[in-house]
Parts: sequence; C-alpha cells; structure tokens
Amino acid sequence: MTVSVVWETYFSERARMMKTSEIRKFFKLTERQDIISFAGGFPGADFFPTDSISNYLQKILKEQTTTALQYGPTEGQKDLRVYLADKMTREGIAYATEANILITSGSQQGLDLISRILLNPDDLVIVEEPGYVGGLGAINNYQGNHLPIPLDSKGICTDILEKKLVILSKQGKKPKFAYLVPNFQNPTGVTMSLLRREKMLHLAEKYDFLIVEDNPYGELRYEGYPFSALKSMDREGRVIYLGSFSKTFIPGIRVGWLMAEECFVEKLITAKQATDLCSNSLSQQLVYTCCVNGFIDNHVQSLVEKYRAKRDMMLFCMEKYFPAEISWTYPRGGFFIWVTLPETMSAESILLKALDRKVAFVNGAGFHTNGNGKNTARFSFSEASLEEISTGIERLGRIFQNEILAVENERLETRVL
Ligand code: PMP
Repeated sequence: MTVSVVWETYFSERARMMKTSEIRKFFKLTERQDIISFAGGFPGADFFPTDSISNYLQKILKEQTTTALQYGPTEGQKDLRVYLADKMTREGIAYATEANILITSGSQQGLDLISRILLNPDDLVIVEEPGYVGGLGAINNYQGNHLPIPLDSKGICTDILEKKLVILSKQGKKPKFAYLVPNFQNPTGVTMSLLRREKMLHLAEKYDFLIVEDNPYGELRYEGYPFSALKSMDREGRVIYLGSFSKTFIPGIRVGWLMAEECFVEKLITAKQATDLCSNSLSQQLVYTCCVNGFIDNHVQSLVEKYRAKRDMMLFCMEKYFPAEISWTYPRGGFFIWVTLPETMSAESILLKALDRKVAFVNGAGFHTNGNGKNTARFSFSEASLEEISTGIERLGRIFQNEILAVENERLETRVL
C-alpha cells in the first residue's frame, strides 16, 4: 500500500498544537542496554515486589474473578476510593469521602482530564520553571499558555509570581490554575517551603485561580519532616490533589487518584467515561488488596531505605568527582538531582560526549518552556545500581573537568590573540 493520504491536513487545530517533548528524542539513545542511565525517571525495577504481586494476583483471580476482570465504575472501585478517602483524612491532607476521589489511569490521566475540563484555548496556567514535562504537555495539548515562574531551593518563587499577577490583573487577566509539584519536584528534587505554600494559597485566593498539587513522590522521603500539603491548607476548596501508586508500588499497573470537590470530580467522571470507560479493574483490585493488608505501607518503608542509599551514593560521588564549577540540588526525597553547569557550557553537547562514554542524563532545556536552561541537567538516581552510580558519576566528572579546561584554554587563547 502506498499511503497517499496527507494526514496532517486532517488534524484538528488542537492536534496541530501538540508537540513531543524535546527530551523524548534523547530517551531513545539513553535506553540502550550498554548505557548507565541517569536519564529516565523510572522506579528501580529490581525493587518491584514480583513474587508477592504474583501471589496476590493468583488469589484475586481465584476469589474475585468478576470484579477483577469485568468493567468497573468510571470513578473507580468503591473499596479503593473509600480506602483512599480515609488515607487522605488520616494523613491530614483533607477530610475526604469517596465522592471526592476519582481513580485514574496513573496521575498522568488526572493531568490530562484536569486540563481538558478547565482549559479554553489561550488560558494561562502558572507552571514551575523548570517543570514536569508531562504536566506541561497536558496543558499544551489543550491549548493552555504556560506562565513560567522560576523555582529556587524553596520551590516556586511566589514573589516573582505575585509581581506577574499584579501586572496581569491590571490587564484584566488571571491564570486558570497553577500546576505544582511541591515535594521532591520533577525535575529539580526541590521541596516547596511551608512559607511559600502559605503564600501560594493566599495568592490563589486573592487572584482567584485553582491549584493542582501533584504529589507522586511525597511518600519517598529520606529525611526531615513533611510540610503540610497545599490541600490541607485549602480554605475554599480550590486545590486539586493528585496521588499515584507508580513510585510507591509499581507504575505498570497505571493506578493513580485525584481528590477534589465533589462537583469537579463529577465533571471529570463525565470526561473519563469517554476516555477509557474505567481504569484497569485487575490493577485496582491488586492495589486495594495490597493497601488494606498493609503491604504497600511496608513496601514504601523498604523503598525509602533503598532509594536513600542511591541518593546518598550519587551525592557522595558528585562531591568527589565533579569540579567546583558545577553545582547541584540536595533532594530530601524522590528520584532527582538537578545539576547546573557554568553558563558557557551546553548540557546537550556534554550529553553527546557522555553517551560516547556510555553514561546518560537528561539535558535541562526540555524542562523549560522558553528554551532556557541549556546549562542544566536532570540526574535520576532511581534506576541505576549503587555500583553504576559510582562508575557513571566518575566518568561524567572527567568529562566535566575536560570541558571546563577546554573552555578555560579557549578563553586564554582569545586573550593572547
Ligand atoms: N507527575 C509527576 C511529577 C511525575 O514525575 C510523573 C511520572 N514521572 C507523573 C505525574 C505521572 O505518573 P503516573 O501517571 O505514573 O502516576
């Protein structure tokens, strides 16, 4: 068959606006078997509790065949929603009933549904700069316009945001919502301070926008105490909270959840009906079984120990092998460390050299909405083994060192000339 149809001419206006994230093109290269990869934000596959999952699945298939294999309610299985509502209430995130909970096919589906329901073309959405590409992409797919606000070691800079909001309100404009990852952010690993959380809520109330609080990494805390969730400070019901079992259990089952005001959840259910009818029934049954018997809580405790060791190894090796001109964040949880190179260095060209030496990371520009961040990079410590982390960071340290020397030599040569 020769394809003579020009598919692009059939695409909707909305589809024409959709873009593949810049960093995806690098993922192909970084996925090679022989590469030590700090690129993907995947959980460590060797931490998957395979035997237990296999036993639970067999039991479920014997005892709960119909619920596990049949279509289920669009909003998710009731038992799991009740469990999650209790969990949210118990953890002080918000008083919730099952009517506030929607089960989603991963929290990524929550991000898609939220954008679908809330955004008209050109609506403004406050985003962290750098920010999570999946969140930025969902906003873009529904023709929302990003309003990027820089992030520092205390999270999104609420002072800068406030100044922007003042200018916008003078023009009669306001954002629809703010998309935030307050704990161990993807890509920087940074956690939003309590003061900034309070300020953010205050700004949302004053300038009347919603907040999407995306928290897939919150339970993977390696030190310190958790700050209150934005949802727990929500006085007016304007925070939408997203949770996920991808990092605390397994991502392949695609189970996440969303907690929000009942009227909003109702609207999302209508949108979800036309998307997938319901999330995976077998996965929900598995998650529910592993939640009520305490398996996932215990599993999370063991993950915290294991990921902490990986984080510590990466930080130790960076300290040992990276030249002084390079700086990085100190994540108290999650999967990511954000690395900043001297302004004159391009993370993309270093990545190509690193791939030759069989190590990979992701260059940071793809997490920015405006092409900034060319001298930044995201390092994930979740997948590589302790040994690979040590070898990979040592190799990169040498590449960085050579690069810095080359730039310095070039500078001196130009001075002599
Ligand atoms: N939000 C953030 C910040 C993430 O890092 C991810 C996954 N990388 C997701 C949402 C989506 O996770 P999932 O759909 O697997 O729940």
